[in-house]
Amino acid sequence: MAELNQVIGALNHAADIIENNKQHLTELDGAIGDGDHGINMSRGFSFVKKTLDEGSFETAADLFKKSGMALVAHVGGASGPLFGTAFLRASMTLKDKTEITIEDYINLLKASIEGIKMRGKSDAGEKTMLDALIPAYEAGEQAVQQGKNTVEVLQAVKEGSEKGLKETEKLVAKKGRASYVGERSIGHQDPGAASVALILGAIADYFS
Ligand code: ADP
Ligand code: MG
Ligand code: MG
Repeated sequence: MAELNQVIGALNHAADIIENNKQHLTELDGAIGDGDHGINMSRGFSFVKKTLDEGSFETAADLFKKSGMALVAHVGGASGPLFGTAFLRASMTLKDKTEITIEDYINLLKASIEGIKMRGKSDAGEKTMLDALIPAYEAGEQAVQQGKNTVEVLQAVKEGSEKGLKETEKLVAKKGRASYVGERSIGHQDPGAASVALILGAIADYFS
């Protein structure tokens, strides 16, 4: 699916998409949180871009590890450590690989979910980033089982995340700042889930 330079290209594209949607993400967080999610993500991914631009990477694991550390180090909100953990867990699945297959991609999504669950003490259905990431993983896993090709699997992951994001409107927030507004979070999309959908969408689009 991707050599290291393509992985860098895809992550740079995701960072650009986050930057372009900074305002939108901040508005989503304004409705149910403290209105800084776009700012947090934009800042975090600008440091990921810097890391990708300046670094030289031996392996895919190295690339994800340094990107994850950039997110953990530079984002103050809940989302920094959580997305950072996702990247660090992804890194651990890649070991000394210098190329990522579509199966590797699905595996790293699974590892990211487990990392976020542990770090966030959260689970499916609590109106968080997991509610986009889990359906994305499940759709991708199913597409692999069905023998779909790389572009089709990436597309399935993208669509799974978007469907999950839409479904977060119906959920009551149980974790993070949005949990303070409780039932009033119904009718609004979760900002972290929106970021997940943007990132996975950007990756799918980059390889299509
Ligand atoms: P903060 O809430 O600290 O201002 P952000 O606004 O950047 O941080 O991020 C908020 C997003 O983080 C939420 O929309 C949600 O998706 C995610 N989030 C918050 N807490 C958790 C958690 N415990 N587990 C998973 N995701 C979480
Ligand atoms: Mg916030
Ligand atoms: Mg905040």
